[in-house]
Amino acid sequence: MNKLNIIMYHYVRESKNSKFPNIKSLELNDFKDQLNYLKKKYKILNYQEFLYYSEQKKIPKNSCMLTFDDGYKDHIKYVLPELKKRSISGFFFPSARTIMENSILDINILHIIQSKALSEKDLVKDLNFLLIKNNFSEKEIKYFQKNYFYNGRYDSKYIRYFKEVLQNMKLTSKKNKILEILFKKYVKIEINELADSIYLSCKDIKELINNKMYVGGHGYDHVRLGRLNNKDQEKEIEKTIKFLKFIKAPIKNWLMCYPYGSYNLKTIEILKKKNCLGGLTVKVGNNDFAEDNLFELKRYDTNDFI
Ligand SMILES: [Zn+2]
Repeated sequence: MNKLNIIMYHYVRESKNSKFPNIKSLELNDFKDQLNYLKKKYKILNYQEFLYYSEQKKIPKNSCMLTFDDGYKDHIKYVLPELKKRSISGFFFPSARTIMENSILDINILHIIQSKALSEKDLVKDLNFLLIKNNFSEKEIKYFQKNYFYNGRYDSKYIRYFKEVLQNMKLTSKKNKILEILFKKYVKIEINELADSIYLSCKDIKELINNKMYVGGHGYDHVRLGRLNNKDQEKEIEKTIKFLKFIKAPIKNWLMCYPYGSYNLKTIEILKKKNCLGGLTVKVGNNDFAEDNLFELKRYDTNDFI
């Protein structure tokens, strides 16, 4: 039976010439090569085709779909022109807050700090110092060390610890303070000076849509839905739909891309009630419409696909 391969992209750029050359990204030239390869070997589905085939519960031979998460400026600057040149359609999933409020997501603040840290060990030292200074108890810090200090699939134990501690911390003034201090120390500018250059604007989104690209939901605050209570999940999803409506993207048969790949049964239940057609995870693999649940679509990271 034919399977659908969904490929996941984040940053795509000429990283040597960028402000933050150490942020892990896909090089523009590699992206172009990948598109040429895919175009030769695969049928690259657009949104209408995805709708059609999911309804038919059939997938054409060698088909794939390109998804771009987080709404980076890269997507208008580098991705759209390359897709247009090849008449390929992509699926874009920006988080609403970056566009509506022009503010930077925690995950991107972490990427930038990390890219500027010369020593990963010192970064962890600084973080631990700030935790103590901000009244985290010894017990909490011990918990962090026990649960987060180990080598990950892509990250060293230091970076893993740094990201997990801060990603799992609730958004409070304490967290903001810690992020601001680290950002200032490592990046040497204020956080809010950067938002414009990182994310798509409303105008960029319009341009994507005018060029027949699909724009779907990636949450409002880019939080892990699977860890929210039912009421907060519902709120987050409603705000996502409000955003889609605002940018004039489809709100019937729309697609949700779960931030951090996090969701649970309740998420799916809410989405189904809200005219959502399917959800994209970060689980690795390909998809079979006949058996698989459309709300648990698997993806390949661009670096793992070819
Ligand atoms: Zn994301």
